[in-house]
Amino acid sequence: MISLERAAELARTFVDEDPRTSQVDLIPIDGEAAVVDGAAYFGYQNRGYLETGDPSRMTIGIGPVRVDLTTGACRMLGAVEAGRLGLFEADERALPGPGDWRLVGPELLDAWRAAFDAEPAAADLSAPCPRCGARDLHRWYRVDDPLDLDGTFDGVRAAAHGWLTEWCAACHLCHEDGDTFVPDHWRSPYDVPEAFEMKFAPRHVEAARRAGLEAGSGRYE
Ligand SMILES: [Zn+2]
Repeated sequence: MISLERAAELARTFVDEDPRTSQVDLIPIDGEAAVVDGAAYFGYQNRGYLETGDPSRMTIGIGPVRVDLTTGACRMLGAVEAGRLGLFEADERALPGPGDWRLVGPELLDAWRAAFDAEPAAADLSAPCPRCGARDLHRWYRVDDPLDLDGTFDGVRAAAHGWLTEWCAACHLCHEDGDTFVPDHWRSPYDVPEAFEMKFAPRHVEAARRAGLEAGSGRYE
């Protein structure tokens, strides 16, 4: 039986020597390693995409490298075949539907929180996105039931229970908290018509933000 470390080396050599991928710089994806039924799988993706988060630099259609743990034989799976295997937890952070929306992963969560906590209750942040660097971070609260009692949480006066969406409009990284408190100085700069019907869907909030900008409602500056 080949060790996982040895299998990772075999996969790396296989990718480096595979003529079909010689035009792209593929590197292992952190955390994407799994062992299933006597084979190890290692996720690979374009270095430029992994380092910048720029979706245009993603290499489409490739799946992970499969290494047979008995023979050491390697092959690259197609994306569809890999999807059926459901190998990596990282896939669970991708939201279904258009736009490649993705939940903030643990590797960026500290930086994400630092950016948003530094500008509490701002609808549009000045800090750059921890993933793509664009200054296009936004937050929005849906205001739910009022609080029974006056409350102060983390030094912020709360007015109501609410649902918080935070997102980057450039790379579509996002985060939600469906059970939070709305600061009493929060004022929504635009309406989100579907807000009370939808489950978590940051693309709808972003669409409402853009509609507000285009309408020049005067409230959104
Ligand atoms: Zn971003």
